[in-house]
Amino acid sequence: MSFTKMFVLLAACSIASLAGAFQSTPAATPPTQPAAPTKPADAEPPARKTRNVILCIIDGLRWQELFTGADESLFTEAAGGVKNDASVRANYWRATPEDRRETLMPFFWSVVAKDGIVFGDRTRNAPGRVANEYSVSYPGYLETFCGFPEPLIKDNKRIMNPHVTVFEWLNSMKDYNGRVAAFTTWDLFPWIFNVERSKLPVDDGIQPCKFGRITPRIEFINRLRAETPRRWGGSHFDSMAFHVMMEWVEVNRPRVLFFGQGETDEWAHETDYEKYLDAARRTDQYWKELWEMLQKDPQYKDQTTIIFTCDHGRGDNTKSPDDWSNHGKTHPGSDQWWVAVMGPDTPPTGVVGDHEMVAQSQVAATLAWALGHDWCKQEPRAGKPLEGAIVEPK
Ligand SMILES: [Zn+2]
Repeated sequence: MSFTKMFVLLAACSIASLAGAFQSTPAATPPTQPAAPTKPADAEPPARKTRNVILCIIDGLRWQELFTGADESLFTEAAGGVKNDASVRANYWRATPEDRRETLMPFFWSVVAKDGIVFGDRTRNAPGRVANEYSVSYPGYLETFCGFPEPLIKDNKRIMNPHVTVFEWLNSMKDYNGRVAAFTTWDLFPWIFNVERSKLPVDDGIQPCKFGRITPRIEFINRLRAETPRRWGGSHFDSMAFHVMMEWVEVNRPRVLFFGQGETDEWAHETDYEKYLDAARRTDQYWKELWEMLQKDPQYKDQTTIIFTCDHGRGDNTKSPDDWSNHGKTHPGSDQWWVAVMGPDTPPTGVVGDHEMVAQSQVAATLAWALGHDWCKQEPRAGKPLEGAIVEPK
């Protein structure tokens, strides 16, 4: 290896490790030895308008659909499970990628992409990726919540997350203690948040939601959850989490919230492209309703930063025409990832073109940084906050 080559490589490595994108294997704590969160630093946080943060994850929604809308080549039975393309074409096909994406996710494109900042548009030389090598859900959520990949968590086995998430850390601070919550549709989330240790209230969308103040409306949806047969073993329909979350937020006033939606991934695994698109559109509508509720509420209005992202990509169809339906190491494209941030400390940059590689490992620090807290100081393995996502007030 020539000196120049070595220098280029070293420089690339240091840039990448700054971004937290390609960290070498971190010193892994065995999953059986949970670590306790250490006391946060006492330093005065920098001034922010943000008082609340929300992380919204749509499971396995590809950047291809987010940035370019529906893919016409998947409107077939063989590739997309579409027997008759009339409705999918009418609902989602438009002449340009811009029209297609706005048709698929109108809230994201008319509000988030205008008022916020968006990373990961590979059509504009702006790549994003997961730093973990698996491109599977648990490794992706762990990386998102903790800020680094954990090579010991390879798949979706029920193992308590050995690491402290940024949510658990924020919950240990007096400003947020008891005001952190998670609403999801998957029964693995209590493990990912390590509820045994963290004691965080985590709603899995299947069991009745029982924490905090419970209203008759929540009781009713709890009953619907139990009485509606589940299509998938460990997860429920997105609506079962969304409506509980909306009501719960109104009456319990959290300051740090996780909202996870999973139908996109479930329908994709069934190779049902139309239902995958329907689920993406529904989640976009849910995000809109959440945003509108927050903007009518003095605690949240213009004081809430929301991060929107996915846990992994999916196959890019170079392997086979229906490979979009799956994801993981053996499905090329699954590590491709996107993220958007919107809030009072985020400039209305829109879609960023020609950016350096950004990584899933940067989300945890960005979330904390929106509140003025330095997750990288607490957890040195964590990727740095996304550049340009949170700016100091003038
Ligand atoms: Zn999946």
